[in-house]
Amino acid sequence: MVVGDISTGTELLVIGGGPGGYAAAIRAGQLGLDVTLVEADAYGGTCLNEGCIPSKALIHASGLAHAVEHAESMGIHARADVDLRGLVAWKDGIVDRLTGGVERLCEASGVNLIEGRAEFVDGNTARVAHGGEGQGSESVEFERAVVATGSRPVELPGFEVDGERILDSSDALSLEALPESLCVVGGGYIGMELSTAFAKLGADVTVVEALDDVLPGYGDDATAIVRDRAEELGIEFRRGEAAQGWAEAGDDARVTTETGAGETNSYTAERVLVAVGREPAADTCNLEAVGIEPSEDGSIETDDATRTAAEGVHAVGDVTGEPMLAHAAYREGRVAAEVAAGEPARLDHRAIPAAVFTDPEIGTVGLDAEGAEAEGFDPVVGEMPMGSSGRALTLGAETGFVRIVADAETGFVLGARIVGPDASELIAEVGLAIEMGARLGDIAGTVHVHPTLSEAVAEAAANAQGTALHTPNR
Ligand code: FAD
Ligand code: NAD
Repeated sequence: MVVGDISTGTELLVIGGGPGGYAAAIRAGQLGLDVTLVEADAYGGTCLNEGCIPSKALIHASGLAHAVEHAESMGIHARADVDLRGLVAWKDGIVDRLTGGVERLCEASGVNLIEGRAEFVDGNTARVAHGGEGQGSESVEFERAVVATGSRPVELPGFEVDGERILDSSDALSLEALPESLCVVGGGYIGMELSTAFAKLGADVTVVEALDDVLPGYGDDATAIVRDRAEELGIEFRRGEAAQGWAEAGDDARVTTETGAGETNSYTAERVLVAVGREPAADTCNLEAVGIEPSEDGSIETDDATRTAAEGVHAVGDVTGEPMLAHAAYREGRVAAEVAAGEPARLDHRAIPAAVFTDPEIGTVGLDAEGAEAEGFDPVVGEMPMGSSGRALTLGAETGFVRIVADAETGFVLGARIVGPDASELIAEVGLAIEMGARLGDIAGTVHVHPTLSEAVAEAAANAQGTALHTPNR
């Protein structure tokens, strides 16, 4: 120990205060463990400070402004004057409220909070360097540890993020003036969610995607609906083109792209948002000292009890690789805490949902028909178009569908894909069905409130059984 160092001891050391880390800390505190949580930057991590929450605030506000201006068919004629500075201040207020809440929840569970950057020294000791020069450091002796250090944006060669011309998602979520034009590199989760939001606010948006289509992995029909709507909003897609570099062009940036066939193109925009993926942050806490070597993709390998190769050390959240989703991190954090406390908790990956907050939204959980077949099931599929949902029509949002997949013989629900308004909420019912081992008849036989979007989930289940009332049965 360095002379003058403070030294403390803890049963469970949690490194990182994002969804994975704070969930682990709070749950471990509830279970009576003596817990220390170390956070280098801001409690709540990426999710609360520069990810899920800020992006959903921007998406909601931009959607509201756009809806107000496009409601003539409902007899509403209005103009929305958006003050982006005011919008960002509102978003920041939500972030402050939630991050403050994380601190209070941790403290209420008896979690000891330390601000600083933690690095392992050996299998039972970590050193925490407090932020700022001359702030000193302290040693923490621990019995068990949870690594929850999260992820960071993948850097795209030739596009150094400067927060001015070239932005990452954090910069884009704090812009105080709307760019006239925006070139978005990457048509994944972030690219599609934020390009939709900026287009609704009135920016001229071009999305450059290296692959043949945006939102890889979500299925052609779902993706096509979202892309068509985005095009209606004025977004221009350049698919099958990889961004190669950029140069100043007067007051704009000129982005150069190359197609698979070697053809080059260029697009000019006031700002460029780079969103080409995120990578695990497995290099922030000296994992070598506990004998953990990240795998080739930079993530930490874990088993279904969140255990790593190092005895007594767990890893949760984005640092363990895909899926890099906050709700997966929460669940893993909870399991890590319970296992550390000696409980027989395990992860179950069958029912981890995912949602894209585009217009319309996409929600998925479990298996699609192809996946079900690959796993040896004989799948039956039921579908309900949103256009047949009375509630969807009253919302002016009739595009999309609910598709539910079950095992033909037993009726056990295996998965669903939902495209439509509030798909991110609707998917929860199917997640619960999978989790409980429910059958189609359980969903179809549950009386849903009329008129709601959730009726479409029950109707899709009935459709798979051949008993739907509002849509032709297969
Ligand atoms: P993080 O939230 O990244 O937290 C890790 C924390 O560890 C950070 O606070 C960091 O400062 C700290 N840390 C790192 N190293 C150290 C160290 N050595 N010592 C101390 N502290 C350290 N997911 C969804 O499910 N839904 C969404 O809608 C969604 N939207 C998103 C939108 C955007 C723009 C982005 C960027 C991400 C979004 N995500 C979304 C992903 C989500 O934010 C992450 O999956 C989630 O934050 C992962 O949680 P985590 O705890 O693993 O890591
Ligand atoms: P992503 O992996 O979803 O998409 C990146 C896209 O960039 C891919 O489609 C890829 O083909 C494309 N790309 C890569 N290099 C390119 C190039 N040179 N030119 C053009 N296109 C290129 O990554 P993301 O959008 O940055 O999001 C990162 C992660 O954040 C996601 O994987 C997800 O885990 C999380 N996230 C989740 C949500 C949500 O749950 N709703 C929202 C936002 C972010």
